[in-house]
Amino acid sequence: MLLLMLVVALLGGNPGDVLEGIQGSPESQAPYVETAEEQELAEFVSVVLADTEMVWTEIFGEMGEVYAEPTLVLFSDSVSSACGVAGSSTGPFYCPADNNLYIDLSFFRALRDRFQAPGDFAMAYVVAHEVGHHVQTELGVTARLEELRQQLGEQEYNQYSVRFELQADYLAGVWASHAQGRGLLEEGDLEEALTAANAIGDDRLQREAQGYVVPDSFTHGTSEQRMRWFKKGFAAGNLDDWDTFGVSDL
Ligand SMILES: [Zn+2]
Repeated sequence: MLLLMLVVALLGGNPGDVLEGIQGSPESQAPYVETAEEQELAEFVSVVLADTEMVWTEIFGEMGEVYAEPTLVLFSDSVSSACGVAGSSTGPFYCPADNNLYIDLSFFRALRDRFQAPGDFAMAYVVAHEVGHHVQTELGVTARLEELRQQLGEQEYNQYSVRFELQADYLAGVWASHAQGRGLLEEGDLEEALTAANAIGDDRLQREAQGYVVPDSFTHGTSEQRMRWFKKGFAAGNLDDWDTFGVSDL
């Protein structure tokens, strides 16, 4: 680091810039500057995240628990997390090891450009799903799944993984039920949003470069299952029907 700063100083640069670049974004050489479009997307993500915090703080409070908010990390090319290094084709993910929500702005651009109709809600849904993984971590579900992963074969574990993903969709539905009155979604948006999110997710996962981790699971369940569990959460508005692990018919 000192050597690098010295070299920059010799070349006439400001060593402080190097330090800032390294601290702000460990993967890039220079501090990352957002485009106006990315700023708009970033703002929207922050609004949705703040809304999820309001809802989950209230629901945790009713259970006598305190909701610890996740930290938002926006990225555009690649990002290094406690769960590994992710490329921009990874899509948004939550890392239970550092409680950070990694949101890939280029994913949202793809989502918006290819599926213009559900626009805002598709993006909100993706954020709410990742927040759902944080809620699962806070409530101990993620730790129990990790225990299962150690004990089970891959095929058997995948079935639990699907249930885990559908539970995150249920939790996104719980949030949406509370957010409904605030103009973020209309009834017809739901199917399109889920289809869009799935389609983009699959496409991008297929193009996934080797050597990157894929923190959010390949095995999300079918669009029909995802929609049904989202709707269950939406109808309940609480955790009453959230046990995707205990039902025989998913
Ligand atoms: Zn997920």
